[in-house]
Amino acid sequence: MEQIQRIGGRLSDIGDGMMVLRALPSRQRRMVGAWCFLDHLGPVQFAAGQGMHVGAHPHTGLQTFTWLIEGEVLHRDSLGNEQIIRPGQVNLMTAGRGIVHSEDSLNDGQRLHAAQLWIALPAEASDCPAGFEHYPELPRWDQAGCTITLLAGRFAGRHMPAIFHSPLVGLDLCSKSGGRIDLPLDPEFEYGILSLEGSIGIAGERFATNEFAYLGTGRQQLALDLAVGSRILLLGGRPFGEPVVMWWNFVGLSKGEIARAQREWEAGSERFGRVAGDSGRRLVAPPLPWSGY
Ligand code: MN
Repeated sequence: MEQIQRIGGRLSDIGDGMMVLRALPSRQRRMVGAWCFLDHLGPVQFAAGQGMHVGAHPHTGLQTFTWLIEGEVLHRDSLGNEQIIRPGQVNLMTAGRGIVHSEDSLNDGQRLHAAQLWIALPAEASDCPAGFEHYPELPRWDQAGCTITLLAGRFAGRHMPAIFHSPLVGLDLCSKSGGRIDLPLDPEFEYGILSLEGSIGIAGERFATNEFAYLGTGRQQLALDLAVGSRILLLGGRPFGEPVVMWWNFVGLSKGEIARAQREWEAGSERFGRVAGDSGRRLVAPPLPWSGY
């Protein structure tokens, strides 16, 4: 059993001054299982006329995973999907070989609170056809005064039905009254915890909102001391045993693959297609950070 690693998230601008807390990847920790990206959005109350508007942008080699806590967000993609996601729901988009999407808070001046995650695809699935699924209801139960939502994978005899390509799990724990909760863990998984609201105690250490705790592998159970009004995100998965290159919105097996995706996006290639009804907004890829590709 490893010591708990404390990682402070960092603020990142996802466009138009919309600041998010990025917990993964960080210098100290790039992944937890196949989970390779974790942004905590809000909670934020937008001023009148303001909202989150992320124009059309491509992805490859990953699944995007959106967990909505407050507000409403409209997802549109190049497969023709248009889906509003509401609190308590998950959107799962498989980029595989390539997809384009846009994301907009539905009403300007609304509140927004969400977690945006990416899941790296292993080599045998990284080039798979793109897809999109909306999960309006998830397994949810109460334990020790805490409401637990199973976001991904299997946990305590329950099952979230989406297809993932690596063994992983995701849980949301929400405690109004606070208190201790015991959770069974898989010793083959590594785990990480981000407090989205309030603070948590793990093995006598306190973790504040937006502090990420990396727990490593080898644990069979976990006792959490939840503060009143806290909400936490627990991620787990079998350590990802393959090299992963991440740059901008692309995940790939090599720098060459990512360079090709960047060129094809900038050339308007059919590989990515278009988001219909999106008035042509399109994000520009920054220059590649490597020469010779
Ligand atoms: Mn995206």
